Formats: sequence, C-alpha cells, structure tokens
Amino acid sequence: MTMIQPGQTIGIIGGGQLGRMMALSAKEAGFRIAVLDPAEDSPCGQVADIKIIAAYDDEEALGKLAEASDVITYEFENIDYEGLKRLAERAYVPQGAELIRITQDRIAEKAAIRKAGAPVAPYIEATGFAELKSRVGEIGFPCVVKTARGGYDGKGQVIVKEEAALAEAEGLFEHSACVAEAFVPFEKEISIIIQRSTDGSSECLPVQENVHQNHILHETIVPARIGGDTEQAALEAARQIADHLQLIGTLAVEMFVLEDGRVLINELAPRPHNSGHYSIEACTISQFGQHVRAICGWPLRKPELLRPAVMVNVLGQHVDPLLKAVPNHPGWSVHLYGKADAKHNRKMGHVTILSEHNEETLSRIDETGIWEG
Ligand code: AMP
Repeated sequence: MTMIQPGQTIGIIGGGQLGRMMALSAKEAGFRIAVLDPAEDSPCGQVADIKIIAAYDDEEALGKLAEASDVITYEFENIDYEGLKRLAERAYVPQGAELIRITQDRIAEKAAIRKAGAPVAPYIEATGFAELKSRVGEIGFPCVVKTARGGYDGKGQVIVKEEAALAEAEGLFEHSACVAEAFVPFEKEISIIIQRSTDGSSECLPVQENVHQNHILHETIVPARIGGDTEQAALEAARQIADHLQLIGTLAVEMFVLEDGRVLINELAPRPHNSGHYSIEACTISQFGQHVRAICGWPLRKPELLRPAVMVNVLGQHVDPLLKAVPNHPGWSVHLYGKADAKHNRKMGHVTILSEHNEETLSRIDETGIWEG
C-alpha cells in the first residue's frame, strides 16, 4: 500500500475553492501542491507550489501534472472521464476514474444509488422530449426535470407543476438526456460526507442540515435538527453507497428528509462539499484534512464535533456588507477564496460561527442584513 509522505507532492485537478482548502490543509502537514487550472490566478493556484495553467483536458498539461505529483486528486466532478482514465494509467490516482464516470451522469448515479440499496424519489429517464412526454405519467406532477449531465446549483433543472407546463422542460434536452423525478415535499435537506482511505478505514462527518436559497446552499447547521432514526438511516444509506462504489477519497451524499423522518437520496458529489466547510473549525479533523489523509493512505481520524456550528455562504453580493460588518463580529471565522470578481451569486467565501446555541446564531445572521440579497 502506498503511503504518501509530507514533502511529497499532491496534484489537484481544478483550482477552485475546494482545491484551495485542500491545499491549505495539506500544506499544514508539509505536503507540496501542484494544481492544474486554466486561470492564471485561481483560488488554489494562489497557495500552490506549482501552477500548471491549461485546460483540464489538455493531455500535455496532465502529463506535466503527472510528472510533478506523487498522488493526484481532483476538486470537481466535471472533468474529462477518458482523460482521467488515461492519467490513472501513468500516475497514482487512488480514487480511480469510475466514481467520476458515475457522478457526472445523473442516470448512472441514480442507478448506482438504487443498486446500493439506498432510497431515491421515483424517477424516469428520457433521451428526448417525446420520451419525457410519453413516460412522465409514471411519476406524475409536480416533477423536477434535470439534465443528466452538467447541471449544478439548480442550473439545468426545471420544476414542472402540471402537464400543461411540460414544454418548459423541452430546452433541457439541448444539453443532454434528462431524468424526471417526483417533486419531493421535503421537510429539510441534509448531507453526509463519507471518506475512505486507501488503508480501508472510513469515517463520516456529523450529519449536516442544509438551507438553500435560489437553489444555492445558504446555511449549514450542525448538529442537524433531526431525530435519531433519521440520523441512523442517513448514515446507513451513505455507508451503503460508499461500499457499493468502493469509495476511495470523499463522497458527499445529499438527502431529503420527509415529514415522517424517512430520507431519500438526492445526489452525490465525489469530492469535499460546501456543506462540510464548517468542519475546518468545528471538528477534530476537517473534510479537507481527512481527504488528504484518505488519498495519501493515512489512517483516518474520527471527525468529532467540538462545538455546534453554523456556516453561511458568502456570495458576490454579500462581500461588501460582510467586510463592513467584520469588526463587529470577532467570533466569526471569515474565509474568502481569493476570487477577484464578486459576481452576483458567485461563491466568494463563507463564514463559520461556533456557539452552544445555533438558534441564536441563526437569528443573529438574519439580523445583520448581510444575507438579504
Ligand atoms: P440538485 O441540483 O439536484 O441538488 O437540486 C438543487 C436543489 O433543488 C435541491 O437542493 C433541492 O432544494 C431542489 N430539488 C432538487 N430536486 C428536487 C425534488 N425532486 N423535489 C424537490 N426539490 C428538489
């Protein structure tokens, strides 16, 4: 079994904030970082030892990354599967390429979740609009039509309230085949981050409760306000999926909680996840530190919650009001990702607030007015 040591180099495909936080954590332990990203000044590039500036599927650049790195990981799922497979033949990519193939296609992903024995909302697949029209009766209305490939943060999906409105989903088929799933009248959304090392050990972070605004994660609350049975069902589902996929690295499992406490799996992400950022301050090991241990063949640590936490995302429109408010909130851990252009709804950073009283924290966040826009 390969154990990567401090002083050796971790190569990261993708230079966004997830890569940056992975890199920062890895550097604490003494690893070196190489990153491949097309941007000159990417969030991860700013903290890396070696920057390779090229497209993610540039074969020559992937070759350079392979030469520079002792182990290679990635920070987003929409990388070229064939390219990653070829890379795995000439470099050490312990996560493999199969998890990417599955999670970049909702059809393959849902089939895998079902095969693992975990529950999903009723759904159908459709390669074209005519097939959607003929089969949508199997799930009924309202339903949510989602492109099989390329969607994120609510992009590439349409809620269809009734049959007469089905044409609103026709445009989605320009991009790819689609799935249509029953609209879930969920009570809340939760996620579990499960991580498994090449040494076979696996750990889950505490269950996270997630609040979305406009389909983008707004707040994560830990501990999640759920019953013990729901927590057990969620952990069991995450473990079933990770086992079935023979996970190495990190898998985030997003779930809906129904009124009766049952869970349904919404989707998977094969990487550290926005809902796990609170772990940097709130847990004995962060999702990033654990990911590094997992791909480097180190035994995993138990990610215990040190204090209740609320994480709130900072989008482009929140940056200025946040910076004005910082002097009044010495207890806030402010993270900004080094992105120059604070575009509306672009993820620019996050704030984590630890306290014994998450409810009070949630009210205070609202009272600041920073997150109104
Ligand atoms: P997704 O891109 O699949 O994670 O969807 C983004 C968000 O849309 C989810 O976090 C939910 O808030 C909402 N959503 C997605 N699918 C459904 C569904 N079947 N029923 C109700 N809400 C959904």
